[in-house]
Amino acid sequence: MTCYNFAAGPAMLPVEVIAQIKQDLPDYAHSGMSVMEISHRSALYKELYAETKANLLELMKLDQAEYDVLFLTGGATQQFTTIPLNLARKYHRIAVVDSGHWAQRAAEDAAKVPGLTVDIIASSKDNDYTAVPEIPTEFDQDYDYLHITTNNTIMGTAYRDDQIPKTDIPMVADMSSNFLGQEYDYSKFAVIYAGAQKNLAPAGLTVLVIRKDLLVKHDDLPGLFDFATEAKKESALNTPPVFQVYVAGLALKWLKEKGGVASIEAINQEKAKLLYDCLADSKNFESKVDPDSRSIMNVPFVSGDPDLDAEFVKEATAHQLLNLKGHRLVGGMRASIYNAMPLEGVQALCDFIKDFDAKH
Ligand code: PMP
Repeated sequence: MTCYNFAAGPAMLPVEVIAQIKQDLPDYAHSGMSVMEISHRSALYKELYAETKANLLELMKLDQAEYDVLFLTGGATQQFTTIPLNLARKYHRIAVVDSGHWAQRAAEDAAKVPGLTVDIIASSKDNDYTAVPEIPTEFDQDYDYLHITTNNTIMGTAYRDDQIPKTDIPMVADMSSNFLGQEYDYSKFAVIYAGAQKNLAPAGLTVLVIRKDLLVKHDDLPGLFDFATEAKKESALNTPPVFQVYVAGLALKWLKEKGGVASIEAINQEKAKLLYDCLADSKNFESKVDPDSRSIMNVPFVSGDPDLDAEFVKEATAHQLLNLKGHRLVGGMRASIYNAMPLEGVQALCDFIKDFDAKH
């Protein structure tokens, strides 16, 4: 029986990417070495780095003259600190839109940067984060930037492109859980960052796309935390995660072959619709998320009865539908259906939900 992995991250990679890794692993590009063994100072890696960066910006429809890409480590979590260290330099004050757990984490960590004030300027806390809050465009204070989270992995909410305004102040987006999974006008953002382990590569790589005018060297920062230094050193100030960058390169080529972000979004929309429609018809289960804020990447659903939820997860696992247990903050189940999840996987889950409803 085919197995489908609905984990929120680390998550599924495309089967074609895994097959390519398997083929390349002992001998990368006829070098006689595995990609896991090649030097980050080698021409082989430099070529890989340049190609991966170019493909990423092409998929995002961003100009290399305007934006740079950093391949970093430390996860999206480290960026909660390093972004304010680099960007909150003039007003020492940032605005955060609180759309759920990860947005709060970003705000909490930024608030630990000495001298920095963090203002929560919008929140959907009052409705249990079942919808995304509207993003303000007018501000009472001067802010160095506005931080948003485009897709809320735990709550299962997301902003569509048309819900994201153009702002006068730089906008920073944590796109960890819908990076390249749905179309945005990426030029609205000054900085976009994402942990790679959901939609791109194995854990250990963080992608940060940044407007070049923001790459100003800060002598008071260690080089590893200074974006301008990292950009100058082509993300190899210290040893970068070569293997992860290689896999990201394969995933980007796969995405290009699929027709790019718009094409994958069309498939992702179809997958999400299938699942939301199935939940709407379900006797036992429902999505609590406001339809206007639905994520097409992470779909939490509940029955309201923890024992029934546990039974569902148990039976689903026996049917090779894996990692459906929901996040402890919301309980129930969560199906993460990133780019690599085929339509057949979502269909298998919907068929299973129908069978489960017939039995329970
Ligand atoms: N932001 C979002 C939206 C996330 O979903 C996650 C991880 N689930 C993080 C940040 C933290 O990412 P990392 O583990 O790469 O630090």
